[in-house]
Amino acid sequence: MVQPYLSVVIPIYNEEENIPSLWERLSTTLRTHFNTPGRDWEVIFTDDGSRDRSLEILTEIAAAEPRVSVVEFNRNYGQHSAIFGAFSLVQGQVVVTLDADLQNPPEEIPKLVAKIDEGFDVAGGWRQGRTDNDSLFRTLPSKLVNAVTRKTTGVRMNDYGCMLRAYRREIVDAMLQCRERSSFIPALANSFAKRIAEVPVGHAERAAGESKYGLWKLINLQFDLLTSFSLLPLQMLSVLGVLISVLGIGFGIYLMIYRILHPEGSAEGVFTLFAILFIFVGAQFLAFGLLGEYIGRIYQEVRDRPRFVVKKVHRKG
Ligand code: UDP
Ligand code: MG
Repeated sequence: MVQPYLSVVIPIYNEEENIPSLWERLSTTLRTHFNTPGRDWEVIFTDDGSRDRSLEILTEIAAAEPRVSVVEFNRNYGQHSAIFGAFSLVQGQVVVTLDADLQNPPEEIPKLVAKIDEGFDVAGGWRQGRTDNDSLFRTLPSKLVNAVTRKTTGVRMNDYGCMLRAYRREIVDAMLQCRERSSFIPALANSFAKRIAEVPVGHAERAAGESKYGLWKLINLQFDLLTSFSLLPLQMLSVLGVLISVLGIGFGIYLMIYRILHPEGSAEGVFTLFAILFIFVGAQFLAFGLLGEYIGRIYQEVRDRPRFVVKKVHRKG
């Protein structure tokens, strides 16, 4: 097999309804735009423990097309682990990631690759006209994710959530050297990139099936981002501690003056004290929670489990 120029990586989790049309549109795009010598392509699917017919359909595609490989995970590890599973096999100089549900039109791939050819390290898709049917419940969290990511990584980007992205090979190699488990690929990539471009791309609703992300998975992702890319929560903790102490001292001084001026009404402060106590208890819980988040992650890293287990790589020849 010739060394491909472009590697397309697609994570698959129960997407049997989407794979046939995805493959048709993707292969058409690739065959028309990347068939010149020196600019060949390959596609690597990761089957992230699907329980439907996804794996079967994928292996059929791989059996007919030598440029397609399928990485089969032994169970479900999540979208980002699935992408990493495919990253370890890529051979191309440019690597494009894509969702399988046709929310990211495969026809946009040449645009992103062109950006990398121009000299950018990372080209991120910037979804235009987002029409998420589940509206606020889904777009609000992703707005939040964007804002926090911008803050913690220091890279201004309009759309961190779009997985239609192109990376120069060196960036992918750097990401593969990261041994941590909880990583959010777009942010991780940006931390290794010098020149980052954003390309407006189309955005459709999920073609079939339902989103694999519930609210809980999104909250988890946000925690991943916050703790793996900055010490911001820990620093906030200290700031909060100082603020609370200052408030406490101020309030103490106020009480002292109040008692000197009104020695007869000293019992009235009891309820205020209750309120203050609750604020303190709340702050302590918050602090413990955040500390626990870091400690939990240290625990995970120390165990040093493999991030995923590849069962088999399906590939023709
Ligand atoms: N995915 C995966 N493993 C998972 C969840 C999702 O490989 O545990 C894949 C899924 O098949 C799809 C992509 O990740 O190709 C994005 O998932 P989804 O469309 O459900 O996410 P959303 O668009 O709702 O953020
Ligand atoms: Mg989707």
